[in-house]
Amino acid sequence: MNNLKNLRGTVDLLPDQLIKWQNVEKILLEQLFRASIKEIRTPILEMTELFKRGIGEGTDVVSKEMYTFLDKGERSCTLRPEGTASVARAFIQNGMSSSPLQKLWYMGPMFRYERPQAGRQRQFHQLGVEFIGYESVRSDVEIIALAWDILRKLGIKELNLEINSLGDFNDRSNFQKSFSKWLEINKNSLDVDSQNRINKNPLRILDSKNIQTKKILESAPKLFNFLSEKSLERYLKLKNQLEVLKIPYIENFNLVRGLDYYSHTAFEITSGALGSQATVCGGGRYDNLIKQMGGKDTPAIGFAIGLERLILLAGNDLDVSRRTDIYIVNQGLIAEPFAIDLSRKLRSYDLLVELDLSGASFSKQFKKANKMNSKSIVVIGDKEAANKEFVIRLFDKESSGNKEEIIPFDSDIKLEQWLNNNLLLN
Ligand code: ATP
Ligand code: MG
Repeated sequence: MNNLKNLRGTVDLLPDQLIKWQNVEKILLEQLFRASIKEIRTPILEMTELFKRGIGEGTDVVSKEMYTFLDKGERSCTLRPEGTASVARAFIQNGMSSSPLQKLWYMGPMFRYERPQAGRQRQFHQLGVEFIGYESVRSDVEIIALAWDILRKLGIKELNLEINSLGDFNDRSNFQKSFSKWLEINKNSLDVDSQNRINKNPLRILDSKNIQTKKILESAPKLFNFLSEKSLERYLKLKNQLEVLKIPYIENFNLVRGLDYYSHTAFEITSGALGSQATVCGGGRYDNLIKQMGGKDTPAIGFAIGLERLILLAGNDLDVSRRTDIYIVNQGLIAEPFAIDLSRKLRSYDLLVELDLSGASFSKQFKKANKMNSKSIVVIGDKEAANKEFVIRLFDKESSGNKEEIIPFDSDIKLEQWLNNNLLLN
């Protein structure tokens, strides 16, 4: 029988890598908490209809990339390819519009059937933030600043923020009339993918990565020139406020983003350190989505950060694990159960405690503690256990023996004194 393997485009995250993931997640959670943004968790599996309606049938994600199947009840189900549609559904379905201003975040796996390559997987992870009910330019600015600060806090370098305005529905339909005429004339010079988009999702052609198409597009009409005065004013305010915050930006009038629901502000943050899959964060305003999905007219803006790309970029100092505080060396019939009891007690002081379960000789266990670079060790043999006491000492090579102490199991005062002097207050 062939060995079993994971599916193409999926990845096992192993303990050594997860040290960095967990350190990154910890910083993310702290940042979100400080910005007073609340978590929401929606199912990974949803009705296919949600994404068709929410993201749009003409998008790459819906037309090519979804993991869709029939369940045993013949219902069409899809593994979520992104988070915004699910959050919008949950917002409507759970009556969350009764308090119309909501700052929400989610984090978890997303699924897209794409060609796997560096920074592109079929199961990947996103952190997303959605500000629902917020209409003012200030919410656009806060959300961009939040994404920017999160990336900066993680020590990510060579960041570029690109912004654009997609205007409102009217602006876009005015543009599309003129763009369609241009497409009719220039159709044959475009790459095949772009040609296929002409009838399905012409706006997305602007976002093409094909070099020749990009060149030809330079002569195409610009959506930006079709913005109404009101949309333009909004965009200028956004730029102005980013300048006040000293967040540098680049205007990219070809930035449209892949999903149908965006309006006005669209933005992406890329890093020069990433290579070809350079976009680490993408976001924008989606004022029509919630109404279109059957809810009340509710403006909203959000972004999503790709965690795999974030981890590739995050500083090496996030790659370090916490040192073990206490390694419990133990051997013997009475000692072993006693050691379990002690490990629970020591952990109640929020210490990282490693209990050796090998039953190996004391010298082997000492070696292991040394290798782990534990700050201190506890030693329990049958003699100590019978006396209901244990030996504790710092494991630093220089100070070995200095701070050794015998502590009775029941003496919390003595134990706390030692911990305070040697571990907790350091
Ligand atoms: P791309 O242009 O790279 O395909 P996208 O526009 O499809 O990105 P979004 O839907 O905006 O991506 O998702 C936000 C972020 O999620 C991206 O900027 C990226 O960091 C990450 N992401 C998207 N698809 C993948 C994937 N297949 N593998 C890993 N990360 C991804
Ligand atoms: Mg994509």
